[in-house]
Amino acid sequence: MTASLFQPEFAYTSAPQRVVFGPDAQDHVAAEITALGRKRALVLTTPEQSAAGKGLLAALGTLGAGHCADATMHTPVEVTERLLAVLHDLQADCFVAIGGGSTTGLSKALALRTGLPQIVIPTSFAGSEATPILGQTEGGRKTTLTDPRVRPTVILYDVALVRTLPPHMVVASGMNAIAHAVEGLYARDRNPISSMMAIEGIKALASALPRLTSGAPTDHDWGEALYGAWLCGTVLGQVGMALHHKLCHALGGGFNLPHAETHAVILPHAVAYTEAAVPDLLRPVAAIFGTKTAYEGLTAFAQQIGAPTRLSAFGLTEADLPRALDLATANPYWNPRAVEPEPLAALLARALVGDPAQP
Ligand code: NAD
Repeated sequence: MTASLFQPEFAYTSAPQRVVFGPDAQDHVAAEITALGRKRALVLTTPEQSAAGKGLLAALGTLGAGHCADATMHTPVEVTERLLAVLHDLQADCFVAIGGGSTTGLSKALALRTGLPQIVIPTSFAGSEATPILGQTEGGRKTTLTDPRVRPTVILYDVALVRTLPPHMVVASGMNAIAHAVEGLYARDRNPISSMMAIEGIKALASALPRLTSGAPTDHDWGEALYGAWLCGTVLGQVGMALHHKLCHALGGGFNLPHAETHAVILPHAVAYTEAAVPDLLRPVAAIFGTKTAYEGLTAFAQQIGAPTRLSAFGLTEADLPRALDLATANPYWNPRAVEPEPLAALLARALVGDPAQP
């Protein structure tokens, strides 16, 4: 019999958030706005997803205050401030974000500064919609804060909106979600509920992603992946992150590497680095992939779904490695295995060129 996830000591804080899975999310937005007691929503998208935003604004009629398609990666503060300046004229009293983590980021940044509620319709597997975490960039520096005001009030998950996610993003964003849950399993402040959600989230993505990346996926497959992303994001919102997320933040912020792809490359390496310190906590991951260790399972899975394997594909060079190491070891996040420069330098060198992960 496998052991339960019971821990003799833990703290669990649940947070209010309405989560709805089902078709025709856009048709339900008006009812959600009204249920929140709001009258005018500002619709947010990236430029690439502008058509979805325009469509929703038209459907909202008088409940729509406007549409802004300025959301962009890493949530630059100047974009947020530009929008704040026009918010009053638009008389918006809530936000509706349709998009991936970048659009959710803009919505969160506006909510932080205004206290207004947010409805998020996620279209990737980033999981940001389920967290009270906001990363913002100012003067070339990305900083992260946690504040209950940035947690979206309502999430509407609809497979119709995620089906258009480009194939490379399906893979990378799926690995990004799995990374939240894997690190949640060995987080210092994990609890039995976050661990349950982490295991179920990884299971859902491990089941759905291979079908999304080969053949003709069904709505059930897309829905299962969104379900996994929600669970993994919820884990991220509950516990502290460790070496994997630190490496990704250092590489993303320091070298402008793409967020989801960086997670996909780094995950097997970061887990290989850490696993010997917490083999029992990572056993459920190995069991899901049917391998001896979690890092071997993640390596094989990444290969199966065609995940990127080398940071050099995104412009990182050997000359960047010393600064990457400095950034990764400055103010390190707690990690089950101590973060030491020498093995970390070797990890980064392997991830640069796509050599296999090693303990
Ligand atoms: P993204 O939101 O930047 O999206 C990448 C591109 O894909 C964009 O052009 C977007 O418009 C497009 N796209 C997204 N969904 C699409 C769809 N269904 N169809 C067509 N195009 C689509 O990428 P992401 O990986 O979702 O988010 C990355 C950002 O999210 C980063 O800034 C990261 O820091 C943040 N993030 C934050 C948290 C948190 O809890 N605060 C968690 C995860 C990620």
